[in-house]
Order: sequence, then structure tokens, then C-alpha cells
Amino acid sequence: MPGLSDRVGTFTDSVIRRMTRICNQYGAINLSQGFPDFDPPQVMLDRLAQVAHEGPHQYSVTFGAKNLRDALAAKQSRAIGRTVDPDSEIVVTCGSTEAMMCAMMTICNPGDKVMVFSPFYENYGADAVLSGAEPIYIPLTPPDYSFDLAQIERGFQAGAKAIVICNPSNPCGKVFTREELEAIAALVIKYDAFAVTDEVYEHLVYAPAEHVYMSALPGMFEHTITCNSLSKTFSATGWRLGYLIAPAWVTEAARKVHDFLTVGAAAPLQEAAVAALSLPDSYYAELNALYTEKRDYFLAGLDRIGLKHNVPQGTYFVLVDIQDFLDLPQFAGYTDLQFCEWMIRQIGVAAVPGSSFFQEPVNNLIRFHFARQKDTMDQALARLEKLKALLP
Ligand code: GLN
Repeated sequence: MPGLSDRVGTFTDSVIRRMTRICNQYGAINLSQGFPDFDPPQVMLDRLAQVAHEGPHQYSVTFGAKNLRDALAAKQSRAIGRTVDPDSEIVVTCGSTEAMMCAMMTICNPGDKVMVFSPFYENYGADAVLSGAEPIYIPLTPPDYSFDLAQIERGFQAGAKAIVICNPSNPCGKVFTREELEAIAALVIKYDAFAVTDEVYEHLVYAPAEHVYMSALPGMFEHTITCNSLSKTFSATGWRLGYLIAPAWVTEAARKVHDFLTVGAAAPLQEAAVAALSLPDSYYAELNALYTEKRDYFLAGLDRIGLKHNVPQGTYFVLVDIQDFLDLPQFAGYTDLQFCEWMIRQIGVAAVPGSSFFQEPVNNLIRFHFARQKDTMDQALARLEKLKALLP
């Protein structure tokens, strides 16, 4: 048998996506892989129907259709208070997943070190491996998921080229404060490195927390590669529309990587997405209100059942502590993955085992998401209620 590359042996498939497959197999309610069970805004759907007849159906410009880049640049310019040039500072990608991979491949040589907070969204580990980089993990310590700045400085001293910041943070729901970001930014500038941000949950930030854009901090646009997407903001995860924003000299290289990876994101979907970006600011406020309500509703449900959990400041994820269950004789020796598999089969609700997000040996957390309609949440909570009976 011919051999495969060594690199494919160094990471597993995505546990998040695997849980969705197992969930589907058993017909459970999917609170594992985070995606909404409701539709994108109507204007986007209507425009898509038109585009089906009018086109475009052929390739767009590889780094993104001009009208979509214009719309994204306008949105980001408003957000960060600096004009983003649609012609030289944006690459439209196939989801933020490609944006992050593209960012890593653009800046990393084999053996370069990249700092990643732990817990982390599992893609970053694989992205690092695929781009030849070596991750240095910086622990985010519960309950507030704070970090030790000195550890980040040591990472830069050890030669780290970049720090990946998922803000708001998947899976722990942390929203980095302005002070925290300023402190990281000072180090990024001091060591002439990059901040690579994943800001796909930028609009899912719960008051009093506020989203601060790394690239908006003084001197940081030149040091930041911002990865983002339309998936969460417009409830369109399957459209696979993402983007990367960076200074022109970085984008120029990122465009080449992107071009040879995927050529481009789906042209008809890019065209239809422009309609969503013309929605007024009230759209984002309504989205935020909707998710605030979902968060409060789901957390109240968990409280009623007596499940211990964190209170996310952002994202649509919540981590639930399953230690009380793991301590029961019936779960002796269970990993969090085995518990999640059991829960899919016996309770009918899917979650993601927390160990897939942590570098540290954490086995007592599972992640639910609440991007679900109220009925679905009610059904899931009713099923989770059965867990209560297990506890003494
Ligand atoms: N970000 C989502 C999650 O963490 C899903 C992302 C994906 O599967 N591409 O569940």
C-alpha cells in the first residue's frame, strides 16, 4: 500500500462534526455542532431565488465578488472606525474555516510557533498542523477563563509568530475585555507578530459584555488578520461564506493561497449575500436580542434540571459540568466522549465532549449550543430532564 502523509496521522477528524453524524444516526436532537435550525433573513432567500435565474453561475473574481467585498468592507469599516479597502484588504473565502487555514498558511513556515488559547475551537489545532506550525497552548482558566499574560510573553520570546484569538470564544463563551486585548496587542506589537482573530460570533455578545475588535486597537490593523463569516450572523452556515481582512501586503499573499486552495466561494451565494449586508443596523440588534433570549431561556432550563454550567458572555455555546454523573457507578471509567455517545442513545440529545477543545486533560465538560428554536429547546430540555433522575 502506498503511504499517506505523516501530517494526516497527527490529527483526528472533527469531533464536533462526528457528533452530528452520530446524532443523525440515532435521530437525536442536535445541540452539538453549532448551527441554527432557522433560516437566513428573507431578503437573502428572495435574492437567492432571483439569482438562480439571473446568475452569476460562473466563477466570481477569485478573492471575492466586487459587490460583496464592497459590502463587507463597509460593514467592517463601521465596526473598526477605519476605512477597509475592498480592493486590497479583503479575501472572500469558503467559510471562516478557509479564512483561518489560509491565514495560517500565509504566515507560517514549517516549525513556526503559533499560540492558541485552550480551550480552543478544534480547527485551530488541525490548521496549525496543516500549515506546518507548532501550537503553543495558553490555558484559559475557569471560571472566568482568564489567562496569564506572562505566559503569552514567554510564547513570543520562544519565537511565536502569531496568537490565535477566538473572540467571543468557542467553546467557553469568553468575551475578551478591552484591557485584555490591549495587553495582548502590546505584546503582538512589541514582538512584531500577528494576531489572527476568529470573530464569527461578533454579534452574539451579551450585555454588559461588549465586542472589541482587535484590529481597531491603535497600531493593530497592521498586525491583525481578522477571520469572519456570514454563517452565524446571517444563519447561513451551509453557504460557506467567510472572509479574511488584513493589511494589503498580507492579503496579497493570502489571495494566492486562497486561489490555489479553492479558487473562490460560490458565486451565486456571494451575490445573494450582498442583500443581507444591506440590512440596517437594527438587524444586528434584533439578532443579538434573539440570542440573548435563547441564552437566558436555555440556561434557565439547565438550572431547573440542576445541571451545572458556565454563563457564556458571548457565542451560542454553554459548557455543562458532568462530573456528578461521571462519579456514578454506572458511568465508572466513562470518558466525556462515551458519556456524549450514551446521551445521544439514551437521552436523545447530542453534545460535544469538552475534551475535544482542551489541551489539558479535561474530561468533565460537555458543550451544548442553543441556536435552536424554542420548541426544539423545549424538547431537548424535556429529554435532559431524565438526567435528573440519575442523581441521588
Ligand atoms: N463553529 C461551530 C461549532 O463549533 C461549527 C463549525 C463547523 O462545524 N464548521 O460547533
